[in-house]
Amino acid sequence: MADAAGAQGMLFDRLQEQQSDSLLQLIALANADPRVEKIDVGVGVYRDAAGNTPILRAVKKAEAILHETQETKSYLGSQGDARFVELIKPIVFGEAGAGDERIVGVQTPGGCGALRLGAELIEAADPDARIFVGQPTWPNHMPLIECAGVEMVKHPYYDPAGKRILFDEMMDALQGARAGDLILLHGCCHNPTGADLSLDQWKAVAELVSSRGLIPFVDIAYQGLGNGFEADAEGTRLVVEAAEQALIAQSCDKNFGVYRERTGSLFVKGTSAANAKVILGNLLGLARTMWSMPPDHGAAVARIILDTPELRADWEAEVKEMCARIRSLRRRLAAYDERLAYIGDQNGMFSMLPLSVEAVEGLRESHGIYMASSGRFNVVGLSDESVDRFAAAVVEKMDG
Ligand code: PMP
Repeated sequence: MADAAGAQGMLFDRLQEQQSDSLLQLIALANADPRVEKIDVGVGVYRDAAGNTPILRAVKKAEAILHETQETKSYLGSQGDARFVELIKPIVFGEAGAGDERIVGVQTPGGCGALRLGAELIEAADPDARIFVGQPTWPNHMPLIECAGVEMVKHPYYDPAGKRILFDEMMDALQGARAGDLILLHGCCHNPTGADLSLDQWKAVAELVSSRGLIPFVDIAYQGLGNGFEADAEGTRLVVEAAEQALIAQSCDKNFGVYRERTGSLFVKGTSAANAKVILGNLLGLARTMWSMPPDHGAAVARIILDTPELRADWEAEVKEMCARIRSLRRRLAAYDERLAYIGDQNGMFSMLPLSVEAVEGLRESHGIYMASSGRFNVVGLSDESVDRFAAAVVEKMDG
């Protein structure tokens, strides 16, 4: 026994040390900074004017209702809360899409679970499938999709120095996609850049998808926080309608503010209602091998809100308030200096500053400003008081 262990080494001794998540490191650094005037624009959560990430009013009320009315915690099954999925479907796909029997959905542990489950489905269906991914993208996209074994093909999306979408370069790269290849698209509020495709650009992508037989994999994690629920879904609906097959990873974690409850869904469009049933069976089987069943609480709360007219109206009003706050901070930054004007035209919580890693470190040391080394910052991490101070420090850095 001892010899065998000696020859092989102990199991866990073989593990490589992993680098800890740089954003989590940033949070720890920001928390440890004693300066009262520090500005934390690293972590990607909504903050109100007081700097808090509040529990939404409707969520509090729905939780009370759930507490009073829930009679069992028995298993729900791998699909999760079917009514939740049914209620999310029209929000993402509109009334027309909601009735489309070729689109099936399951509840997942957040948007991450949806992306991972989608990747597993792709790999199960075709081990040779490839997915085209614009750069830069949310840092977790690559590991989440790659670990299922799906090959990734990187293509240009955004130029941080030029502060613009590289649309021609992206379309050129997509010319290299074969029928059956997938494209990862951010439905709205692109993370990390804030730069979304225009409606005309979405139309061009939809045409390409349709003419070349490509499969969109849309990640929509911030619906409602860009320009409202309908506007934020327009691009997604265009490409899903144009495509014969599609995957849509949806998250409620931001627009219900239930981040830690891990609430989301994966929808998949098949070639027919019968094909969609087969897809659903595969999704359930794959979910079973990963998390068996998704956590219930967040989806149950979202379901109660969406099923209760007063709560739903209040939720929509509060998301509108959040969206308006993000837009107003963007306008303030854009008005501060011409070099920040592009921020006003972008959407969602994030934007990217054309700053070097050294400049980002310099801002941390001299001003207590905490942002990702890529220059990505959370617009809504700013307060009415800190926004001008932030803009002044950034512009000063841009001047060198
Ligand atoms: N997609 C993008 C683009 C995101 O930014 C995030 C969260 N930061 C997710 C998906 C995953 O969201 P969730 O927390 O619901 O897993």
